[in-house]
Amino acid sequence: MLAWSSCVITWDGKIVPCCFDKDAKHQLGDLQTSTLKQIWQNPQYIGFRTQLLNNRSAIDICQNCTEGTKVFD
Ligand code: SF4
Repeated sequence: MLAWSSCVITWDGKIVPCCFDKDAKHQLGDLQTSTLKQIWQNPQYIGFRTQLLNNRSAIDICQNCTEGTKVFD
């Protein structure tokens, strides 16, 4: 089972998927206009997760990340 567990909140309330997104290029919502629960479940966030599962190499911030990859066979 997959469990999405965290996100990053920028100083001005933007939600980005993780700390690899240092320039907040993948903004998934704004806490100044929505709740965290709304953002967590919004179509944009679901779309990001879907892309992560289906074509992770297409996401620039994920290309050099080892999170979730197999280290040992
Ligand atoms: S795969 Fe890595 S860089 Fe991409 S969202 Fe997950 S933790 Fe962040």
